[in-house]
Amino acid sequence: MNIENLLKKTISSSQYRAITILGEQFDRLGIRAFLVGGTVRDILLGKSITDIDVVLEADPQDITSKFDPKYKVEVHSVSQFGTCKIILLDQTIDLAMARKEVYPSPGELPVVEHASFEDDLARRDFSINAFAAGINSQDWCELIDFDNGLADLESKQIRVLHSKSFQDDPTRIFRVLRYSGRLGFDIEKRTKKFMIEGLRLISLLSGVRLTNEIRKIFSEENSGAILRSLDQYEVMSYAHESFPNGADLTKRRDLLQSLRIDPHNRDFYAFVSLISSLERQNAIERLNLGNEFMKFGSDLGRIELLEEKVSRSELHDQLKQISEIAILVAGTYVSRKIKSNLDLFLQELNKIDLLIDGQDLIGLGVTEGPGVGDVLSKTLSYMIESGPLSKPEQLIIAKKFI
Ligand code: ATP
Repeated sequence: MNIENLLKKTISSSQYRAITILGEQFDRLGIRAFLVGGTVRDILLGKSITDIDVVLEADPQDITSKFDPKYKVEVHSVSQFGTCKIILLDQTIDLAMARKEVYPSPGELPVVEHASFEDDLARRDFSINAFAAGINSQDWCELIDFDNGLADLESKQIRVLHSKSFQDDPTRIFRVLRYSGRLGFDIEKRTKKFMIEGLRLISLLSGVRLTNEIRKIFSEENSGAILRSLDQYEVMSYAHESFPNGADLTKRRDLLQSLRIDPHNRDFYAFVSLISSLERQNAIERLNLGNEFMKFGSDLGRIELLEEKVSRSELHDQLKQISEIAILVAGTYVSRKIKSNLDLFLQELNKIDLLIDGQDLIGLGVTEGPGVGDVLSKTLSYMIESGPLSKPEQLIIAKKFI
């Protein structure tokens, strides 16, 4: 089957041109090259594509330096697996060396070996991701359907290429549920059985790989439904017993939507906020989220311990070291009274500033030393209880504390 017509229909003219140029250049260099994986799957589904994935039977590093110099190619990044990202005609293209993967043990990253193009298709996760289409002139747009993926696209099902697939790489459990939710496809019967057998191996995945998969789910348009499908198999609790379920996570993510916080991490703030304070540090370590999240987690714990009845200065004292993100996030789930205290802190107390400093106090006759800090902090507490004051008013109050 030749997919040139489909290709023309689904991709932009600039994408088409970039692929043509690549094909010509690889012809010149005598290298076989193919569009692969999700790129071909989406073209077959008539969807527009954002990623152009190309596999070469050669090492892509430095290859673009052998291109006709009239084409300006930027090389963006080179990865440990012999892949590199290039920009050609404003199009980002991933070039990868055809490779074989050997999995030393479940959950670990594979050992990669240079291999034939067929081996490269055999290492893929699902039949609907194991397509290729030639871009050299002799097989331009000829479809290679490695394992009956076309039939699976037609019957709308996702199927692994072999029974050990989830054991080799348990991230595929997240992937199968993500594709199923995105495309509205069923998980083929045996694949579902293998997936269920592989669930316990999720615990072996590193934090980085786990976070990566969860992040990809968050970025799906249909993420709510995908997260709920994770619940069906208790996928999150296989990753860590404290992880929240998808239904709660979806509700909490919705609540955080309107907050002014970094959208890249927003969903993980929602995630962490749902974990009990006793388990939070463990869970953050499990996800390898780093120090910023550790601080966020402990800040949430401190907010959760706030009492409803506190004076303004006690409230200020308890919250002054807490990050604004933690206060905003906690505000979505704490009691109404605590929420109004958090708002009071952010909108009023946190904005009250001392306009006087040590020099002003020394001018008033205070001797240098700890007494200076003491008077300043009493003046600040006074304002926190009674409201902000101008600098001359602050000096008058400070005098009272000398
Ligand atoms: P998306 O549309 O979400 O970008 P994609 O199908 O292009 O999905 P990628 O994660 O970008 O997926 O990976 C590109 C291709 O690499 C996949 O289509 C698949 O063939 C292969 N692949 C990616 N991850 C795995 C994996 N964990 N195991 C096996 N093959 C994989």
